[in-house]
Amino acid sequence: METKVVSFKNTAMLPPSLLSRLAEAARHNGIESLRPFSPEQIIVAEWVQLKCRYGCSNFNRSWCCPPATPTPEKAREIIAEYSLALLLESTHFLPNFYRDDGRKRASLVRCWKGTVSLERALFLEGYHKAFSLVGESCSLCKKCVYPRNCRFPREKRPSLESFSIDVIGTLQGLGITPNLAADVHEAFKYYAVILVT
Ligand code: SF4
Repeated sequence: METKVVSFKNTAMLPPSLLSRLAEAARHNGIESLRPFSPEQIIVAEWVQLKCRYGCSNFNRSWCCPPATPTPEKAREIIAEYSLALLLESTHFLPNFYRDDGRKRASLVRCWKGTVSLERALFLEGYHKAFSLVGESCSLCKKCVYPRNCRFPREKRPSLESFSIDVIGTLQGLGITPNLAADVHEAFKYYAVILVT
């Protein structure tokens, strides 16, 4: 499977040669597409943290989830410092997705590490501000040791939701209809964003 590079109109693009190298690296991590887009299209909303605070078992239990992550106000300020972002997308078929099993964790760790490795590649190409906002919560450890010191601080990154990003609204604004898995046998999508420059 090749990783597609999907471009949007009026978006400052990365050099095509760099995008090809990133796409090749992304392919090794199962990422299906890279889409450069304007961070102005990222929707940050106060209500997102309601979903974290009420209804998610990771609240106050992970370095990559609230309240350890930036407030919505701070997230808006940080995103406003960027003029280009990359959306990463991959598809997963895990019948036991809603169970917290090892296969799900292995799949998320692959996506997580792949996202951070693309961020690192951008940094080495001179995009020193590159920073990843990953999908789901950190799965690098079986159980996060929060509030004790993180075991893998170099790979620790906040999730999209922990940055108060309305992921579905943002995807819809980009013309993407997210496929929500309503049944355990349906495929689900992994999305991550790298803030580039
Ligand atoms: S690497 Fe481990 S300790 Fe650090 S945030 Fe992730 S799960 Fe928690």
